Amino acid sequence: MTRIAVVEGDGIGHEVIPVAQKVLAFLHPEYEYFPVGVGYGRWERTGCPCADADIAALKTADAVLFGAVTTPPMKDYQSVVLRIRKSLDLYANLRPVKGDGLDIMIVRENTEGLYSGIEETGSDRATTLRVVTRAGTERVARAAIRLAQQRQGKLTIGHKANVLKSDVFFRDLCIAEAQKAGVSYTEKFIDALGLDVLQHPQAYDVIVTTNIFGDILSDVASYLVGGLGLVPSANIGDRYALFEPVHGSAPDIAGKNMANPIATLRSAAMLLEYLGDTGGAVWIESAIQQVLASGTRTRDLGGSAGTREFGDAVLRALSKQG
Ligand code: NAD
Repeated sequence: MTRIAVVEGDGIGHEVIPVAQKVLAFLHPEYEYFPVGVGYGRWERTGCPCADADIAALKTADAVLFGAVTTPPMKDYQSVVLRIRKSLDLYANLRPVKGDGLDIMIVRENTEGLYSGIEETGSDRATTLRVVTRAGTERVARAAIRLAQQRQGKLTIGHKANVLKSDVFFRDLCIAEAQKAGVSYTEKFIDALGLDVLQHPQAYDVIVTTNIFGDILSDVASYLVGGLGLVPSANIGDRYALFEPVHGSAPDIAGKNMANPIATLRSAAMLLEYLGDTGGAVWIESAIQQVLASGTRTRDLGGSAGTREFGDAVLRALSKQG
């Protein structure tokens, strides 16, 4: 039986995940869905945001549907989502940004770089080690190249090799992989790339970059398609996979039935695609498009529909398709 671990997490995770879970359960009532309750709320209640047993439970799933977790900027608090990405070795974070006339796939290295977790805080100095390994770079480059081969065949390498030696290393390894695979590539400094993606989004196909640059670039690029409420992601490794919206727990709107569930619905669609149900993924997207075309929109898109109401409309559209 296909088993899906469902992590609501914190904040709007408690609102957008139930919407996506209902849609998945509608399309796949035969799957088993089981909750895993990690996050900051759990830390507040128990002092432990994520236990070894939770990681073990996630590893029993065929795929994980994940909302968002709050990470307080506290010295000794370890980010739950970073721990999960590392523990499950989810090294490629795929963040598609798709809209009118643009279809960009940002592939972010997801287990090392500036998010390596090797840090030190003293009274006069704090350091974070930016780790870029050959193995880590080659595998994410290959993942990006495979995607480029299935798409328009264009790879862009985003880096800051003019300043960072670790990015000279990253860039050169990505170029070597692209040359080996015979995929055409360009490279760009990440700051210039950020602007160019906004000015000429249609020029881009697959962009591969390091951890923090991919994190920032995908939030920025979400502007092109209506903001963070719309952009999904897949975290893929060789054994496990986790699907989550690009956005965070949005404490400013949490508990108000205001969050846009589209990013999470699209993440659920990516989950289905990963499990081989391409048709289900297409159905979810076309149901979203129908609901948007009917004028039902959440507040971030200028409408007045609540999270639940939007989700119900998607379910109705799906029932009609079925
Ligand atoms: P955020 O993405 O939560 O919110 C940024 C802005 O976008 C907010 O104004 C929010 O209201 C809006 N927004 C986000 N998602 C939306 C949606 N679905 N519909 C409508 N509006 C939406 O980023 P933040 O405020 O910088 O971070 C809040 C918390 O989330 C922090 O604790 C941060 O560490 C955490 N975070 C977690 C993840 C994750 O779990 N993967 C990712 C990013 C941030």
